[in-house]
Amino acid sequence: MLSVIVPAFNEGGNIAAAAGAVSGILTENGVDFEIIFIDDGSADDTWEYIEKARAADKRIRGVRFSRNFGKEGAVFAGLSRAGGACAVVIDCDLQHPPELIPEMYALWEQGAEVVEARKSSRGKESLIYKIFAKTFYRIMKSSSELDLDGASDFKLLDRKVIDALNALPERLTFFRALSAWVGFKTARVEFDVKPRVSGKTKWSFKKLFRFAVSSVTGFTGLPMQLMTAAGLVFLAFAAALGVQTLVKFFSGEAAAGFSTVILLLLLIGSLLMLGLGIIGYYLSKIYEEIKFRPRYIIEKETKTDDEN
Ligand code: UDP
Ligand code: MG
Repeated sequence: MLSVIVPAFNEGGNIAAAAGAVSGILTENGVDFEIIFIDDGSADDTWEYIEKARAADKRIRGVRFSRNFGKEGAVFAGLSRAGGACAVVIDCDLQHPPELIPEMYALWEQGAEVVEARKSSRGKESLIYKIFAKTFYRIMKSSSELDLDGASDFKLLDRKVIDALNALPERLTFFRALSAWVGFKTARVEFDVKPRVSGKTKWSFKKLFRFAVSSVTGFTGLPMQLMTAAGLVFLAFAAALGVQTLVKFFSGEAAAGFSTVILLLLLIGSLLMLGLGIIGYYLSKIYEEIKFRPRYIIEKETKTDDEN
């Protein structure tokens, strides 16, 4: 059986379409499936639509969070509930074409354990968003050796991979990178990002930026290493300046050097603060991990088959 995991946050207008498209395509291709909708604390009628879909088709299930915990939590909640031999994670807005699932499923049948759907085009996105995304992926690639350019959350995972992800103890997750990080035999398919069917994107720039910073720091210590490098460069600079100052002092030319003092103070001060800021950021992440808070809280779930 294939488990289809669909995170949904204020997607009332898309639930029926997504359920219909996915089940239509999978039935056509003779794939046995279940669909798990995770309502990520929507404020609209998403949950009612999930229950409606569930009433019409028992292969559809729903989980509702007590508040908005973010897509990461939703994906992992879905993974923990997936009963299939493999699972596919797909967006609710049909920007990930469900027509691709049979192809991904076939690759899995041929032995692939992770099937990544990569974006061949990024669809309609603003220039600033594109630059931001490219920079983010470049930093991720050079610092953590995970090539994520074009990567999406649209993936098919074998049971082995699902179990590996479910066993990860961390809570500050980044699904897109973690599913590459765990390894396993990976195949790729390409797709074009289509415009959203209904509603608008759930990511504000602020939310995305926080997500990017958290992902980079979650995967690499590069920012800390950059500080060390900057410190070394500054040390060399300071040594040269020190020698020059001493030479001037002994040749009796000193006293006019107030500007140097001020510059040095400023530089050292800013470097120290930057360094402290970065250390503070990592500390706060450690703090967050150490709290052992759950990744999400479930408010309710559709009944299991035996209860019906
Ligand atoms: N999503 C979610 N929780 C959130 C934000 C988004 O579950 O806090 C879901 C959303 O319902 C959709 C998917 O994640 O199914 C992708 O979101 P969206 O389409 O808004 O992102 P974009 O396609 O613009 O990157
Ligand atoms: Mg979308």
